[in-house]
Amino acid sequence: MKITEKYIRKIDTPVALSTNEVAVYYGDKQAFTGGTIEFPRHRITALIGPSGCGKSTFLRSLNRMNDGVARVEGQIMYHGLDINTAAVNVYELRKHIGMVFQHPNPFYKSIRENITYALKYHGVREQDVLEQKVEESLRAVALWDEVKDSLDKNGRRLSGGQQQRLCIARAIAMEPDILLLDEPTSGLDPISTRKVENTLQELKQRYTIIIVTHNMQQASRSSDYTAFLNWGQIVEFDETAQIFTTPHVQMTEDYVSGNFG
Ligand code: ADP
Repeated sequence: MKITEKYIRKIDTPVALSTNEVAVYYGDKQAFTGGTIEFPRHRITALIGPSGCGKSTFLRSLNRMNDGVARVEGQIMYHGLDINTAAVNVYELRKHIGMVFQHPNPFYKSIRENITYALKYHGVREQDVLEQKVEESLRAVALWDEVKDSLDKNGRRLSGGQQQRLCIARAIAMEPDILLLDEPTSGLDPISTRKVENTLQELKQRYTIIIVTHNMQQASRSSDYTAFLNWGQIVEFDETAQIFTTPHVQMTEDYVSGNFG
């Protein structure tokens, strides 16, 4: 169904990533269309909307996680380059645009190795540099004090909330520019959820964060900007406060006031 009433705010601060008329197809099925948006640098942008509206599909296209799964049309511009062009090496790209998934998926390795694995893969060999990275990354997600005496413990033996913070630490150890998170707290209890949200607030000083969430309270308390999606389209994009108090589009108003979804 075509949505005729839309409102997409133009960003007047630096932009980290922009998309132009992005459409995503699974086979013949169009799951997302008309995606034109600018993601502000060093801010948290939430993607909200009813289940199945295309949030994850859109998010995954932002660092080519849809390669081999879905066809992506349109432009996704990062530092003047369209990420879908042949010149872009997807492994390099994902060093700059990292992803954290819904279910925590630490490697079946020690906490330390969870952080160092990709660094070693990309050629970092110096032991002191690796150790420093381990501490730095775990501190950034407020996990260091909880695990500093058990870095050799298997990452899978941490609690769910700790595992998810370990996955965020693993992603930021690569010093990405942009962090994509797909419902990172949906399996966590409220306390762990708050810890992850607090972590994101700290991280936005240095990273651009784009987070899919089905939890509207989470979007309203932790993001700076919000995009509301429905029927595979971006209906409205604006500052979060605006979306949740006085949105421009009736459909957004209906959704945030709980009238559907
Ligand atoms: P959301 O994240 O908002 O819940 P999704 O992006 O997961 O929505 O899904 C959007 C649409 O694309 C849904 O109709 C879903 O069934 C479909 N879809 C998602 N992933 C696939 C896939 N791998 N193959 C085919 N269809 C898919």
